[in-house]
Amino acid sequence: AGGVDAPVVDEAVSTADGKRIEVAANIGGAAELDPAVARGADGIGLFRSEFLFLDRQSPPDEAEQYEAITTALEAFPDDRVVVRTLDIGGDKAVPYLDLPSETNPFLGQRGIRLSLGAHSDLFETQLRALLRACASDHGDDLAVMFPMATQIEEVEAAIERVDSVAADLDSEGIDYTVPELGVMIETPAAAFLADALAERLDFLSIGTNDLTQYVMAVDRENDAVADYHDPLHPAVLRAIDRTVSAAEGRDAWVGMCGEMAGDPDLTELLVGLGLDELSMSAVTVPAVKQQVQQTATDAARELAEEVLACETRAEVEAALDG
Ligand code: PEP
Ligand code: MG
Repeated sequence: AGGVDAPVVDEAVSTADGKRIEVAANIGGAAELDPAVARGADGIGLFRSEFLFLDRQSPPDEAEQYEAITTALEAFPDDRVVVRTLDIGGDKAVPYLDLPSETNPFLGQRGIRLSLGAHSDLFETQLRALLRACASDHGDDLAVMFPMATQIEEVEAAIERVDSVAADLDSEGIDYTVPELGVMIETPAAAFLADALAERLDFLSIGTNDLTQYVMAVDRENDAVADYHDPLHPAVLRAIDRTVSAAEGRDAWVGMCGEMAGDPDLTELLVGLGLDELSMSAVTVPAVKQQVQQTATDAARELAEEVLACETRAEVEAALDG
């Protein structure tokens, strides 16, 4: 297994037999860009844009968001930067938005639901900033993804919003480019619909923190049931496999940006499951890159098949140890 003191590898890495795997970083804001560059990340696989909205009295305007996005693009001039649109609700409250309190916030107005509903105004401003940033000097590798999707209709509505923002910018004579568009697979509904999502989008990014929460019916923040929040549960692994398999033969790449992606002990399994990109907290980038280089895709595929046949967590553990 890879140690935390693995050497930094600045260039892109491939498996021992030559399959390129992108190893990117998750960030919440500009302060995390330098550490991500220093650890050799191949770009940003998850920019949690909601952090721009927290700990303040009013939302950031279009100019401030444009600045934050272009700063990330400049830090990684040759690599992809994936910005997730606002993912508030659930565990992330924003006081000035005055959202009604909910009995089950994780099952309530979260992510894309708010962007298409009560806070379509914020969504529009964010999309304007993103489309403009995509036309900036280093903007051609910008990608945008939507959180918490459960319906094809909402993804189509989000794409329509992108198109209507593009039309607005066009009529205003403002430079813009439509970025690569993707969706997070973090609900069972999205995993079951991954084929239909992959038809409509450029990429899928599996958010195992929420996917595990929703597959396992367990609050990701409740310590009393933390054992159930386990991405190695066979049902979660099968949801991941289903997602990756659904995208095969379609034109969409598949990444993973949940905590699971940053565990170097799981890199071989994730390569075997067929992921193209892994995005994680910057500290684990060197160890995961080292693991990718030591992985042979045939052996990884065999490991994945063995693990996918398991019916219990104990069997999964035994297969991974074996
Ligand atoms: C996830 O759910 O796995 C994810 C990456 O998003 P967040 O942790 O921000 O909800
Ligand atoms: Mg999530």
